[in-house]
Amino acid sequence: MFACPKCKSIRYARERQKTAKCLGCGYQIQIHSNKIMILARAKDIREAVETVKFLKVKMKR
Ligand SMILES: [Zn+2]
Repeated sequence: MFACPKCKSIRYARERQKTAKCLGCGYQIQIHSNKIMILARAKDIREAVETVKFLKVKMKR
């Protein structure tokens, strides 16, 4: 779980993925780059979805 460095939209990717394309701006995110802020780690996709919801609410404030 990490935020896009360009548009700050939250993306979820599997740990073994190297890159993920941001749905917000199309930026190719290097997941293991130290510029990327890992927000949270999730055990499965359901937990990931819940965490994204939670983070989105939190970041609005
Ligand atoms: Zn983006």
